[in-house]
Amino acid sequence: MAEFDVVILGGGSGGYACALRASQLGLKVVLIEKDKLGGTCLHRGCIPTKALLHAGEIADNTRDAAEFGVKAEFKGIDMPAVNQYKDGVISKLHKGLQGLVKSRAVTYVEGAGKLVAKDTVEVNGQRYTGKNVVLATGSYARTLPGLEIDGKQIVTSDHALHLDYVPKSVIVLGGGVIGCEFASVWKSFGADVTIIEALPHLIALEDESSSKQLERAFRKRGINFELGSKFTGATKSAGGVTVTLENGKTFTADMLLVAVGRGPTSANLGYEAQGIAMDRGYVLVDNKCRTNIPGIFAVGDLIPTLQLAHVGFAEGILVAEEIAGYNPRPINYDGVPRVTYSEPEVASVGLTTAAAKAKGYDVVELNYDLAGNGKAQILKTAGSVKLVAEKNGPVLGIHMVGARVGELLAEAQLIFNWQADAEDVAPLIHAHPTLSEAMGEAHLALAGKPLHAHG
Ligand SMILES: Cc1cc2nc3c(=O)[nH]c(=O)nc-3n(C[C@H](O)[C@H](O)[C@H](O)COP(=O)(O)OP(=O)(O)OC[C@H]3O[C@@H](n4cnc5c(N)ncnc54)[C@H](O)[C@@H]3O)c2cc1C
Repeated sequence: MAEFDVVILGGGSGGYACALRASQLGLKVVLIEKDKLGGTCLHRGCIPTKALLHAGEIADNTRDAAEFGVKAEFKGIDMPAVNQYKDGVISKLHKGLQGLVKSRAVTYVEGAGKLVAKDTVEVNGQRYTGKNVVLATGSYARTLPGLEIDGKQIVTSDHALHLDYVPKSVIVLGGGVIGCEFASVWKSFGADVTIIEALPHLIALEDESSSKQLERAFRKRGINFELGSKFTGATKSAGGVTVTLENGKTFTADMLLVAVGRGPTSANLGYEAQGIAMDRGYVLVDNKCRTNIPGIFAVGDLIPTLQLAHVGFAEGILVAEEIAGYNPRPINYDGVPRVTYSEPEVASVGLTTAAAKAKGYDVVELNYDLAGNGKAQILKTAGSVKLVAEKNGPVLGIHMVGARVGELLAEAQLIFNWQADAEDVAPLIHAHPTLSEAMGEAHLALAGKPLHAHG
């Protein structure tokens, strides 16, 4: 039996970040992974989807080239070549990560592990015991009762990332982040796309104004969507998949992407058997990612916090520092930046207007339209920077829509996390002409001294 300071089960964003930080702090670490180091984000999530979205952007730019006076002809998508590009990016990052884990002297074990005692994980008949155990087994793509995934006509994001052709038509079930990103990619690649969402808006967790702007932009791009009606069933035929909704409407397409959320990977892993408190499969933790069992921690998509890679990184680091005795500050989840990487992008940090009001703040709002921003005009993008602030107080939330606005989050999250007032940001000079000027202009306007703003 091998003895460690930290035994980590799962080598995705949460697990490997914990391993790297713990070894940096001098702890003896074993990282156990049954598939590929890097997990969902690297192999089936963030990286491959963003590579597809970038290929989609190039397709759109080629189609629209004449608008910029450039002669170019869009001849179509070579899906095998797109996949080669995407897989090349993944492979490079995967090799880099493997090297990093090796260089930090983390013991890496390949195989499916199970928690067999409060301090022990068993893999391939071998037991690894630690003073601390970190559960980081991540999540899987959910489906709905009666909706069987066949990997061909009815697929999840895992299958959608490996298609070697562009479907003529797709129904995307679920208008959350993953659904909207795939809808955006496929539209750029030339497919006919319809999103079906039971809630009243796309990306319903975002500020309502962002959802509405995305809906407007998608409508303009010819992406269809049906909001506020529940899915009741799907039938397959040679002609495709037909989806029926509660309102009686039916939609038929070549393919159905099921993007209804992700559930925690926790079944049959020994968690309940060891007495770990759980809720609907999620492992419950406190603000230091500690479970109810002393010495057992959990991070990433396995716990009911935001399912984002950078949240997994932060939780992994937090746990490593907690174990090493550094007493780290708990994560403020409101301060986590969020991006939907569709065309246009939607990015936010902090509270929505509705959430700020629900918390009892006296809220003021400021909307800066990208129509007044030079770079946005150069890029021919529409959108806005919306500020939610406490009256005579700090900025509580920043919500943006437009091409490349995800890149503006770095500043937005400093403003939110440092609890800046509009008057603190207004004097900061933003380079001209950049999209970041919209951030400056929004704060100038909120501070009562608008520059390039009408009204
Ligand atoms: C299509 C898609 C797009 C996404 N895009 C983004 C994005 O742009 N930005 C963003 O921040 N997030 C994005 N995400 C979310 C992000 O991928 C996850 O939040 C992140 O991967 C969670 O990390 P994790 O370590 O908790 O879990 P995972 O990354 O799922 O890692 C868990 C690991 O545990 C392993 N494992 C499971 N059970 C066992 C076992 N019994 N023994 C050994 N190993 C085991 C798995 O093989 C896996 O490698 C996206 C997700 C998807 C699906």
